[in-house]
This record gives sequence, C-alpha cells and structure tokens, in this order.
Amino acid sequence: MPLPDTMTMLRELIAAPSISSTTPDWDQSNLAVIEHLHTWLEALGFNCEVMPVPGEPTKANLIATLGSGPGGLVLSGHTDTVPCDPQLWRSDPFKVEERDQRLYGLGTCDMKGFLALAVEAAKSFTDQPLKSPLIILATADEESSMSGARALVDAGRPKARAAVIGEPSSLKPVRMHKGMMMEAVRIEGRSGHSSDPSLGANALDAMQQVLNELAAFRSELQSRYHNSDFRVDVPTLNFGCIHGGDNPNRICGQCELEFDLRPLPGMSLEGLRDAISARLLPFGERFGVKLEARPLFPGIPAFETPASSELVNLAEKLTGHKAQAVAYGTEAPFLQQLGMDTIILGPGSIDQAHQPDEYLALDQIQPTIDILKQMITRYCL
Ligand SMILES: [Zn+2]
Repeated sequence: MPLPDTMTMLRELIAAPSISSTTPDWDQSNLAVIEHLHTWLEALGFNCEVMPVPGEPTKANLIATLGSGPGGLVLSGHTDTVPCDPQLWRSDPFKVEERDQRLYGLGTCDMKGFLALAVEAAKSFTDQPLKSPLIILATADEESSMSGARALVDAGRPKARAAVIGEPSSLKPVRMHKGMMMEAVRIEGRSGHSSDPSLGANALDAMQQVLNELAAFRSELQSRYHNSDFRVDVPTLNFGCIHGGDNPNRICGQCELEFDLRPLPGMSLEGLRDAISARLLPFGERFGVKLEARPLFPGIPAFETPASSELVNLAEKLTGHKAQAVAYGTEAPFLQQLGMDTIILGPGSIDQAHQPDEYLALDQIQPTIDILKQMITRYCL
C-alpha cells in the first residue's frame, strides 16, 4: 500500500470524529483515529500495539515502535478533540479546509496535525537501522479524564530516553506547567424552622468557615510558593460554584462548594489534598454536620523538566526559542513519571485550540517535520 501524503493523512484524521468529554452524550470513541495511525505505521514497518483503556471499551492508546533497544525517542499526541459548535464554524469542522494559508478543522492544531507530521517525519527513517527505538504514541481522552495517559503509567510503558508531546506551542519548547485539581466540599446538616437554630444544623454556617479556611490556606500557599517563570507566578485557588439551601426561613440543610486549585511544580496533589482534609474536617464536628472533601477528578500534576536537560537544550537549539512555562495542563507529567526526559513542542498556537475555526498555519508544517527529523536523528540514529 502506498502511504498517503501528509495532507491526506491529516484529512483522514480530522474526518474521524473523536471527541472526548466528561458529558457522556458528547463522548465518542477514538478507535477510528487509532486504526488510521495503526495502518500507516504498520506499513512503515513499525511494531504496533493497540492498548485498551481499562473500563472504556471504545477507547485505546497506540504504541508504535520502530527499531529496538534502550534509549530512544517518543513522539506523543492525543487522538481526541474537545467538543465543537459546528454552527459557529465557517466550514465543516470535520473536513480540512484550506484558506488564507491555513488548514481549518477540529484537531488541526490540537492535535491530530502533529500526529500526521510525526508519521511524515518517520518516513525518512524506515530504510536505515535505528540504534534506539522511535516510538509514536497516540493517547486517548487527554481532553477529558487523561485515562489514556494514566493507563500508560499503570502499564509502565512506553520507555525511552526522551519524549516530545506535540501540543500546540507555536514551535516553542515548553518545560513547565502548573497542575490542576478540581475538588468539592459537601456539607450535610439538618434543616428546620429558622426561628429556632437548635432545631437543625446549618450547613451554610459551616460552609462559611470552610470558605474562610480555604482562603487562609490560599494565602499561605501563595506566600510560600512562587515561580517567576509563570505569568501568574503563584498557585491559585478559585471558588468556582456553590449550591445549597432552599429558603431564607429554613435552616440550610445541605451545601456544596466546588473549587479549582492550580499548584506550581514542586507541590504534590496528594500533599495538598491531605492538607485540605486536615484543615476542613474538624468543622464537621464543630458544627454538628457531615463534611466530606473529595476530588472531582484525579487531577493533573504540575510538570517541570530542568532547564539543563539534554532535551530542553536540543529543543532550544533547534527552534531558536528559550523553553517556557505555560498555563495549560498536558500529559507531560505522566510521561515524565515513566522516566522520560519530557517537553512540549508542537505546531499551531494554543490560542486556536478549543475555538471555532481552529486552524494550523501552513508555514508551521515543514519546520515541524524538520525539527522532528533532527530529534529522531539525535536520539535514534
Ligand atoms: Zn491538546
């Protein structure tokens, strides 16, 4: 089978819808995308393994390996996209349309485009023996639960010396991002007539103290942790929503708060959760209510690769840009947990990701292929 060219591969990847969402009605399988990559990479001589994602029969990761041995390089991209509003698009989100020197389509920059370019870069290395493996990794559910990346960590694979995640970074290397936690505090009191407080246990009174305590915790974190590489240079804690009670003349029987916490590199998710529980749980007893603090999802750890890393230095040399810190989360901390020197470096701008009329500028394509080929040469030849 002759292998399709870059544009054909991109068209086929975009035409295979693979939305992932925590809202079940929008969530789709990614198997069609995995199947395309599997076919192309197998034709190039890669050894392909489709790895099921536990508990999700319609999702899978692909680990495609060319060559063998220790060391090597992983080129990683997620196969899923966010949901879209087709009525806000100028063209069909699932059909690549070229206009104004740009390729429009859902996933062109975030980030099926990178996967097509990684396959394109790999084409130049199939007729020579590699000293170390080149691994193209395609993951599931990055935009929702990161269950694909979590499954890789559980499986302890893949392993290589270095990993490049091609999230849209305008071809500037990224070596740091914050983590993300979304947590809930639920307070169950007892309602009763407002005229006599002893008839119930007021969940809102307890929640008021919880808010104060969390605000104090936030101040402590912000005075303790600071990293000037980030535009917002402290950890943040945002009170996102609160729901509870029903009537002014009833003792509030139930109240729930949701907040988001974005730790800096060096702050562990478990450590933060333990600290939050230790500070909040005593309010349950004090107010005679049931108080529960729980994560809304497992969270994404903060990520940092040292400025002195070999991969950071190579990426800075190849791109002419100093590695930076960004405000979005990625699968990087998971690949790093597997022992790989990890950076984020990909075509297209994060400004176009998750937007109607998402596009990849044509002038990003050849430079991406060139950079990837030089990285493969460095790590695999
Ligand atoms: Zn992405």
